[in-house]
Parts: sequence; structure tokens; C-alpha cells
Amino acid sequence: MSNPFIIDGMNSAIQKLLNYSRLEAKRGFDNRAVVGGLQKMLEPWEAEARETQLPENLIQLVTGRLRDYPRLSPDSRAEILEGLWNRLSQDLPDVRGAYAPEQTLPGPEPEPIPQTAVEEPKPAPTKEPEEPELQETEPETGSSDEPEPKPAASEPPAALGAPLTTISGIGPRSASTLKKLELESLGDLLWHLPRRYDDYSQLKTINRLWYGEDVTIIGTVDRINVRKVRGGKLTIIEAIVSDGTGSIRVTWFNQQWMVKKLSSGDPIVLSGTIDQYLGRLVMKSPDWELLDRENLHTNRIVPVYPLTAGIRQKWLRRVIFAVVDRYAERVPDPLPPTIQSSAELVSLPEALSQIHFPDDWDALHRAQQRLSFDELFLLQLGVIRQKRDWEDLQTSPFEVDDSWVESFTSALPYHLTDAQNRALKDIRSDLSAAKPMNRLLEGDVGSGKTIVAAAAIGITASNAAQTALMAPTSILAEQHYHTLCEVLPRATGIEAGSIRLLTGATSEADKKAIREGLSEGRISVVIGTHALLEDPVTFNQLGLVIIDEQHRFGVEQRARMRAKGNNPHLLVMTATPIPRSLALTVYGDLNLSVIDEMPPGRQPIETHVFLPSERLRAHRFIISQLEQGHQAFIIFPLVEESEKVDAKAAVEEHKALQEGIFKPFKVGLLHGRMKPDDKETVMEQFRRQEFDILVSTSVVEVGVDVPNASVILIEGANRFGLAQLHQFRGRVGRGEMQAYCILIPDSDDAAENKRLEAMEQTSDGFKLAELDLEQRGPGDFLGTRQSGFLELKAARLSDVAMIEKARREAVRLFDDDPALDKPEHQPLVEWLDRFWNIARGEMS
Ligand code: ADP
Ligand code: MG
Repeated sequence: MSNPFIIDGMNSAIQKLLNYSRLEAKRGFDNRAVVGGLQKMLEPWEAEARETQLPENLIQLVTGRLRDYPRLSPDSRAEILEGLWNRLSQDLPDVRGAYAPEQTLPGPEPEPIPQTAVEEPKPAPTKEPEEPELQETEPETGSSDEPEPKPAASEPPAALGAPLTTISGIGPRSASTLKKLELESLGDLLWHLPRRYDDYSQLKTINRLWYGEDVTIIGTVDRINVRKVRGGKLTIIEAIVSDGTGSIRVTWFNQQWMVKKLSSGDPIVLSGTIDQYLGRLVMKSPDWELLDRENLHTNRIVPVYPLTAGIRQKWLRRVIFAVVDRYAERVPDPLPPTIQSSAELVSLPEALSQIHFPDDWDALHRAQQRLSFDELFLLQLGVIRQKRDWEDLQTSPFEVDDSWVESFTSALPYHLTDAQNRALKDIRSDLSAAKPMNRLLEGDVGSGKTIVAAAAIGITASNAAQTALMAPTSILAEQHYHTLCEVLPRATGIEAGSIRLLTGATSEADKKAIREGLSEGRISVVIGTHALLEDPVTFNQLGLVIIDEQHRFGVEQRARMRAKGNNPHLLVMTATPIPRSLALTVYGDLNLSVIDEMPPGRQPIETHVFLPSERLRAHRFIISQLEQGHQAFIIFPLVEESEKVDAKAAVEEHKALQEGIFKPFKVGLLHGRMKPDDKETVMEQFRRQEFDILVSTSVVEVGVDVPNASVILIEGANRFGLAQLHQFRGRVGRGEMQAYCILIPDSDDAAENKRLEAMEQTSDGFKLAELDLEQRGPGDFLGTRQSGFLELKAARLSDVAMIEKARREAVRLFDDDPALDKPEHQPLVEWLDRFWNIARGEMS
């Protein structure tokens, strides 16, 4: 992200602070580097710092340390500034050494300089720091300023699809503002749910305010004035508000229009956080309104909406209030009354009005319950209906007799576990039916899903049909390719030559040959990445589609893969252990086989949390493993959002390790910025033991198998979710020897961490998943969006009780009306279609 406020590598506010500090040092810390003293400069400085995106912690640091500056002795001032710059240079490498007062000569008394001597700010911030938008005039809302007569209850039901401009009170200008939030219809607005609520129902008097609290106060404007600072480029509106118990200073930045609306003597309601400035309590940019207006934004439980630049909280709140007030009552409720009562829910109109402007917390809770139920219920209805539709499809059955299975299993170097056998039996029975298989094979990392998939491929091939296996990364695809080339020819009749790999890195000539082989039927198994979807490959007889690590793909991609055959069978695999209730919701359209047993002889991976100060011990331990001929992974967390920065960090760490403690060993490097071929080469080299250690960012997370690796060290372990930590850990312990996982958090404090403790205590992926679900919700291990799962607005997938309730009602509905064709269910069916269309739209 480029920051327009960085000048010559230094933030302009920091630059200014530096000039100021140098000047103060030169003047012997007399607090006159700025006319009027530091106190004159600090507030506009803070505004500028925010505007220039200086990190908030640094802003706090500067204002905090300088707050008492004017009152201090010159010696203390010197100390304060020196300390401040030392501290700043920890976070801002650019300023290291920039402030060096000891080098400034105590010259003759310089002239006091006017304020402008501290450089003028760049084009003054034209926007209010806290709320990035600022419109001199607010978009019109009409309805709340001149309320329209409320419609009689007999008015027609609200048309949820109606464009916003048809709503009285919203003109084209407001509509185009709202479009920025993707709010285009009446329904969009009604379902634009608050992000949180502020409880302003407790009024406080000014004498009882505390620093840092969120409050609403009522008072009278004693004084209001505009101050221009920074040569008129920044305006500060300053008001003194009193309530008989005391008075408080209130400021807003760059909201000059307010002066026209507020004058002294006006009764006013203010809602916001109590801050302090130079030791006194103040309010900065609070929400406000005149007392005699409807107390809509204040003095109650106030909704806080997600916003986008150019939209004001207060304005949006007023628009939504008008809309809710007018239309919520008339929203038709598609939920059959029987279900509403058996699920103990409030009506939709009630829920919609209370979710926005709740009367109290109980009413809000009931509203949330209702809207959450709706989403989960529609979700369940959708997947159940999908499953029923699939059950109506026809396809070719693939059968093998028992002797085939026997010869397959006896060709393996080990016995299948009972759980693998059960999964194989499920799959065999699915394949032998004349309708397509739809099965999810769920099994913890290392539980042996690949061999079960190989059996399915064998069954398909012995029925003269082709298989496509899709994996999320080329590393993984290649790994599967190697495994299958080894297993299939031995355990089935498939020739090695008819198994091919197709990834982004495959040459055009090879791709062409693969395409021909597939369309003519000479190739019976193709393994690949997304490239399989992108490439115009066609199949002669695609009988089976297998998708590995399915949570990495969208439903859409699954569907596209299926479309390459004529209702092919589908097997999806995941190492993400999903609690059953959730699996039924998310993958309710699939049948489930769980491999809940590890191959014998696996010792649990010994897992330990080390403090950062014990890193050397961890490195020595790794060395002892390497000396026994084993290999090691070292994982670094995503340092930044950007892969580029990340790659840089990984490169540096790699260099430091290779040239430092691990000098006698060969250290490889893998990160997300590398080209796919390079990644593969490195992985392959690691597998062939050309490296002893692989330093990697999180790209090795998924499925990679290097049996000789016995230890994995995860740095910054506190930053990863449980599911991800568990996945990393699964990179080791794939062979016979004892394996180890060492977790090092960022700091000693971060070692007190429930997730890390859980990792030490159990290696059971299902237990960890349950825990993760409790702690962080499902997003982490479902990758909600990626799995093609629409974004739920009201429901939480960790709310198991609600999921079960919704499922119960959905199943009951289908029992009662299998085709959903009863007239009383038609509004519900329309609702369901709309819900899933939106969901599909979001997925593509
Ligand atoms: P995952 O379920 O994570 O995809 P894999 O299929 O990669 O796991 O299997 C992990 C390792 O376990 C592989 O090296 C495989 O050869 C081995 N394996 C699979 N099944 C068994 C078994 N029944 N007994 C012993 N080893 C097995
Ligand atoms: Mg696997």
C-alpha cells in the first residue's frame, strides 16, 4: 500500500515533530520553538498525524509523552524528547539517529520563531480524522427532517426488491451514496445490519465523567467558535458545553458547516468517548444533535453500521431509521406460522425493527435469534434440496467384485485401518449405484485419505472411465502424482503412462499431449491444480472427480469440474475436522465418511511451547535431530498482508539462519512469491534430502508429505489459528520415528495462550476443531468464502444449538412437503431461491 503522506521516506507529521524537537534542543528546551508553546502545536499535530496514517500507537505515544511538556523544567524536557525519539526509532527505522541533540551547539539565543517556522503542513487535511468522510452538506434524507405521515397498516406489503429511489425520502443523490455500500434496494437497507451497538441509554452528568468511557451527555452550548490553524488550512470547531454540574470542551475538525447549525444557548446531546487533552477531559468529534429533535442517535441503544468513505454514521442511521419506521412493519413474513411458533421466534417485521433500533437488550436478542434462524434455515433447506436433486440424476455405475478389492489391498505395503476400510466400503457402494456419488471424505492430517482415493480411481479405471483429481497447490498435485504413479500400477491395472500431471507449470507441448490423451481416452488419470479448470481439457469418459483439500475450492469450481463429465461421481476430501453439526450445515449436500483413526505405529507428535528467549535451545534441538539424519521445517508467520513483504522477511530469516547457527547444514527456502516451478523444485529437493532444513512461510500448510522430517518449529505461533497450527504440525510425524513440534510465540506474554496450550495437550484434530469453533468461530478453518459459503449476516456458525434447531425444522418441512409444492410454502420457496441466487452470485 503506498502512502501519499510519506515524503522522502518519512511521515510528514514525524518530520514536523523532528524539526520541532531539533529546534527546541537548539533553544535549550525553552518551549518556545513554537510561538505559544508546544501546547499550541500538539492538537493540530495530532490531527495531521492521523490524516497521514501514522499508526495510532505512535500518535498516542507522542501526545502522551508531550502532554506535560510545558510544565516541565528544561532538563526534564530534554529527557522527555530524547526518550521519545529513542522509542520512536524502534518503530520507525527511518528516524534512527535523526534527533541528536548532543550534537547541536548551544549557540546564542535564537530569535523566537513564529509558528510557521515549523514547516507548514502539506495540503491540510480536508477531512475529519476520525470519520474519513466529510460532506459540507449532508445528503438529503427528507423523511427524517420532515417526517411523512406513517402509512396505514392496510398499505400494500413492502416490495423488498424496490429500488431505493422509490422509497419516499430517498432521492437519486442519497441512492447513489448508498450504492457505495452495495445498498440498492429496500431489502438491502433493511438487512444492512448494525456492526455493533452502543449503549447510550445511561445518561451521565458532566461532573461524573471518566476518561475513556463511552457516554451520552445532555447540556447547553455555552460557546462555539471556529479556529483556523495551520494558515487556515485546518479548522477546528470548538464548543464549551455545560450541564449545571460542570462543563466540557468539545472539538470537531473541519466541520465548518456545524457553526451554522449550532449556536450558543442551544440544548445539545453528545454521544462519544471521553478523551483528555493536556490533563482535562474533552470530547473529540462526538455524535451530536439538538435536543429537541428526535433522540434517534442518542439516548438509547444505538446501532453502529458498517460504513464506507463518504457516508456518515449519523446520516445512514437516520436513513435506516426512516426506512425501518416506514416499511419494517409491512415486510411479508415467508416463514410458515407453524415453524415460527415451534422454533419460538418473533415475527420478521418485529425482528427487523428491533435489530436496528432495539427497545432493550432482550428485544435485540430475540431479533438476532430470528434473523440467525432464517439464514441457517434457508441454508439447510438449500443443501437438502440440492441433495435431493442430485439423487434424481443418472450416471454409469462402476462395480468391482470382492477379489478386486482383495488384490488391491494386498498390493499395499500395509493393512488399511478399519476406518479406511469403512470409507472404502462407502465409496464402493456409492460408485456401484446408478446415481452419482457425492461424498465427503473427512480425515485428520496423515490419516491416509490418499490411498482410499486411489482405490476409487482404480474402481473407476477398471470400468473403463477416467478420473480427474484436483488439488489446491502444485506442490500437492505433484505429490499425489508421485504417490499414484507408485500405487496404481501395482495395485490396479492402470499403467504408469496413462497417469499424467497438469499444472500451471506444465509445458504447452505436454499440455497438448495430455489434452489429446484425455479426449481420446488414452489417459485414464489426470492430476492437477486449478489449471485443470482453466485448460480447455475435455474427457472421453470422465467418471470420477476427486477434489483434495476441498475447503480451498469454491462450490463453483466443484461444479465446473463436474461439468466436464456426464454426471460424474464426486469425492471431495478434507483434512479439516469439522464437528458433525457444522458438517451437516456446510456440506449437508454431501454424504460423509470420516476416517477417525490413524495408521498404527504413529506416535503422537510431541509438542512444546518455548519462550522466545529459549530459541537457542530449540535450534540446538533441531541440530540434534539433523545429526540423526532427520530433517526439519521452520515456519515463519505472515508478517504482513502483502506477499512481497512476507517474502522479504522469509528471505532475511533464511539468510540469518543459514549463515548463523545452521551454517554446517543446508537450509532451503520456500515462500509464496516464488514461481510455481521454483516452489516445486525446492520441495522436491527437500524430499530428496538435498536440504536439511526448509524455511517456509505458510505455503507448506497443506498436505505436503516429507516422511523424513521429524521436527517442525513454528515461529510467531500465537498468530496462527488452531486449525492452521494443526495443519503445520501434520507436516511431520508421517514416518515411523518420533516427531516433534516446537511453538515459539512472539513474546513471553503471548505464550499464555489457550491455543498453544491446546496444541501441547492434544493431537486430535477433532478436539482442536471444536475448541477453535468455540474460540474463534468457524471462519478460520472453513475459509467461509472460499468454500463457496455465502457470508452470513446474522448467524454464527459456532451457534450449534441454533444450527440444530434450523436443521430440525428444515428436515421436518421436507418430510411434510417433499417437493415443496404446497401453496402455503410458496412464499418460502421464493425466499429460498432468492437467498441461494444471491449466494451463488457472491460465489462466482
Ligand atoms: P492424508 O489423509 O493427510 O492425505 P496421506 O494419505 O498422505 O494422509 O497418508 C499419510 C501417510 O500414511 C502416507 O505416507 C501413507 O503412505 C501412509 N499410510 C496411509 N494408510 C496407511 C496405513 N493403513 N498404514 C500405514 N501407513 C499408511
Ligand atoms: Mg492428503
